[in-house]
Amino acid sequence: MTKTRVRFAPSPTGFLHIGGLRTALYNYLFARHTGGDCILRIEDTDQNREVEGAAQNLIDTLHYMGIDFDESPLKPGKHGPYIQSERLDLYHKYANYLLDAGHAYYCFCSSETLQQMREEQQAKGEFVKYDRRCLNLSTAEIENNLAAGIPYVIRLRMPDDRIFAFEDEVRGHVEMNSFQSDDQVLIKSDGFPTYHLAAIIDDHFMKISHVIRGEEWLSSTPKHIWLYECFGWEPPIWVHLPLILNPDRSKLSKRMNDVSVESYLNKGYLKEALLNFVALLGWHPADDRELYSLDELCESFSLERVNKSGAVFDLTKLDWMNRHYLRTLPLEVIAERAASWFQPQDIVDQSRYHKIIAAARERSTLLPDLAEYARMFFASDPISDDNIEIVSSDDSRKVLAWFKEQIKDISAEDAEKILEITKTGIKELGIKGKAFYMPLRIALLGQPHGPDLPTIISILGVEESCRRIEHYL
Ligand code: GLU
Repeated sequence: MTKTRVRFAPSPTGFLHIGGLRTALYNYLFARHTGGDCILRIEDTDQNREVEGAAQNLIDTLHYMGIDFDESPLKPGKHGPYIQSERLDLYHKYANYLLDAGHAYYCFCSSETLQQMREEQQAKGEFVKYDRRCLNLSTAEIENNLAAGIPYVIRLRMPDDRIFAFEDEVRGHVEMNSFQSDDQVLIKSDGFPTYHLAAIIDDHFMKISHVIRGEEWLSSTPKHIWLYECFGWEPPIWVHLPLILNPDRSKLSKRMNDVSVESYLNKGYLKEALLNFVALLGWHPADDRELYSLDELCESFSLERVNKSGAVFDLTKLDWMNRHYLRTLPLEVIAERAASWFQPQDIVDQSRYHKIIAAARERSTLLPDLAEYARMFFASDPISDDNIEIVSSDDSRKVLAWFKEQIKDISAEDAEKILEITKTGIKELGIKGKAFYMPLRIALLGQPHGPDLPTIISILGVEESCRRIEHYL
């Protein structure tokens, strides 16, 4: 079998969003699983929608997520350039070929004419499409228009009434009538190709074996198949990934901040959780297993197990996965990723910082939760009146004084000793449960919740613990 070659082909119109990440990931996993190549191609032919810096941002985000390409603008292979705006000559050459072969034609209609056409068709309840009024212009008319500098586009002449049938790896046998396809613009009035022309030419010359892309492109596939026929080229294998849906089954919200990968990273989701979560948005493994590292995904992924029906974006599941990775990734990794949420002075003592992360990650969902949890060790938040009342009772004062006396000469790391002290204290003072622990926690942390006493003391140190207790006494 020839080597599989797939491509992720984003348009640089904004941030990478969850759907784009899923497409990139599935292409990557398929290439890795089959020992093929994964290519990154920047589709920047829509100059109006291009956002400055977006291409670099996409590249950076994908790299951060661990999705690396065998060929890309930064790592050119034999089939470059990998940025469409650098391949314009190629598109013009093949547009001219289509014109000469009668598969394409010049269209000089202005946007006002097209708008009027659309409105009339709508008013009559007709299918809205170009009515081909420029299809039969004479050579002389075309030449005159061109000489007069009238703006034009080049359109594909679709067959009139033809069923396009194709096999899709996910959807199985698909049939669509060419009647539903407009005479697609191939070259726009600014001289740039549209996505349809550029992508087909590039997929052919880049030797793409499988086109793995979102379901929104399914309806364009007849046009693409027709272009392959016009050129006499072999089409790739088609793979259309299911839609990603909100829990109410509407299409995943397009509001940038809700769907961009960057916004999830900024909220403190871990890339391991995001990748794992996105992998399962449309692909299901043979068993019920849900937790996968990127390497494990490369090993297990197959197109046969990609679902046809829409995949629901379930934030509760993403949170669950994030909690899992927060607890199980190496402590140093979590500490490093969390650092930007802490005050610089709070992480200077790295050993103490790591102890805090170890305690906090057991109780957090997102990276900033770690910093929020850690506040009790750093902040001197005002203590509520209720808590003041608790520490001020006679029993509380007894516990505090006794405890301070017991710990003042021990090692902060001696968890066993601290547990032994608490047991003895409960017995000797005859004060147990909340009445024993609450005043200690309030004195040490400013509030009655938090980790166990050995952890607290190990983080604060003996001296600081005694100082805080003394403060209340
Ligand atoms: N540039 C297209 C997009 O951003 C790529 C579609 C495809 O993969 O064919 O969606």
